[in-house]
Amino acid sequence: MTRQTDIPALAQGVASGDRRALARAITLVESGRADHRADALALLGALGQEKQALRIGLSGTPGVGKSTFIESFGLMLTGMGKRVAVLAVDPSSARSGGSILGDKTRMDHLAREPNAFIRPSPSQTQLGGVARRSREAVALCEAAGYDVVLIETVGVGQSETVVAQMADLFVLLLAPAGGDELQGVKRGIMEMADLILVNKADGDLKTQATRTCADYAGALRLLRKRPQDPDGFPKALTVSAIEAKGLQEAWQEMATLADWRREQGIWAQTRRDQAGYWFAQDLRNGLLELVQNDAATAARMQQAQEDVQAGRKTPAAAAAEVLEPLADKLKN
Ligand code: GDP
Repeated sequence: MTRQTDIPALAQGVASGDRRALARAITLVESGRADHRADALALLGALGQEKQALRIGLSGTPGVGKSTFIESFGLMLTGMGKRVAVLAVDPSSARSGGSILGDKTRMDHLAREPNAFIRPSPSQTQLGGVARRSREAVALCEAAGYDVVLIETVGVGQSETVVAQMADLFVLLLAPAGGDELQGVKRGIMEMADLILVNKADGDLKTQATRTCADYAGALRLLRKRPQDPDGFPKALTVSAIEAKGLQEAWQEMATLADWRREQGIWAQTRRDQAGYWFAQDLRNGLLELVQNDAATAARMQQAQEDVQAGRKTPAAAAAEVLEPLADKLKN
C-alpha cells in the first residue's frame, strides 16, 4: 500500500514543533477520506501521548469577548515564555459551514507570535465529527509541545459538553449583566465551569461587572461541592480583555487548580475517563457508519423511518425489525 503522506516525516515535524507540519497534521485528521483516516491514525499512533499541555476549554456567547480575551491572555502567556495553541469547536459550522475562528480577522497580534499557533475551526457537517477532529487536533498540539491549548467554543449548550470532555479546565466567559440575567446561564453550564470570568470590567461597565461577578460567586457557592475542586472553587473573577487586567490573577487560579488536581490524581483520572468517553463515542459512531454504509440496511432503515412517521408502525417495533437481521448476522 502506498501512502500519500510520509507519516514518519510528518510525525517528526510535529514533534519538533514545526507549525507548518502541525497545520498539515490537523488538516489530515480533519479529512473525511478513508485513506486519510488511516494516515491520521498512524500519525497519532506514532506521536504517542507523553507530552501533556494544560487544556483549557473556553466558552461564552458571541460578543462576550472570547477572541479579545484569547488574544490578550495568549499574549500574556507567550510573554511568560509559554507556547500557546488555540483551537475552536464550532457547533454553528455544523449548520452553516461558517466558523467562529477564521472568517473574521481575529487575534492578529497573537497570530504573529512565533510561540503561538491558531487554528480556525473546521467546517463540518455534524457535531460528532467536529468533536472527534477537534480532540485529535488537541492531541496533535500536545505532541507538538504546546504548554497551553485553548479550546474555544460558542456557548449554545451542546458544544460545552463536548469541549469539557477534551479539556482539563473549563472557563466560562460572561458579560456584565443585570441581576435578572443570571438565570440566563443554564445551570448545567454553571456546574461545568471551574472558573467564571466576567469580562469587560473596565470603564462604565466596571461597577456592573463587579456586581455581576459577586452574583455569580454567590450562585457558585450554592452549587453542590464537586470532588474535583479544592476549597474555594469554582471561582468567579472579573477581567478586562481589552485592558489586559485580571489576566494574571485568572492564570494564577487556573494554575492553582491544575496543580491541585495533578497532586490529587484527579487530573490523570479525568483524562482516563475522557479517553473512555471518546472510545465509546468513536465506537458508537463507527458502528452506526458501518450499518449505514450497508445499502440493504440503509434502505430498511429509511423504510422503517417512513413507516413510523406515517403511523404504520410503532417506533419500537420498527427499530426492532431493522435490528433483528443485523443481530442474526452477528450471531453467525
Ligand atoms: P466574541 O464574539 O466572544 O469573540 O467577542 P469579541 O472578542 O469579538 O468581542 C466583542 C466585542 O466586545 C468587541 O467589540 C470587543 O471590542 C468588545 N470587548 C471585548 N473584550 C472587552 C473588554 O474587556 N472590555 C470592553 N469594554 N469591551 C470588550
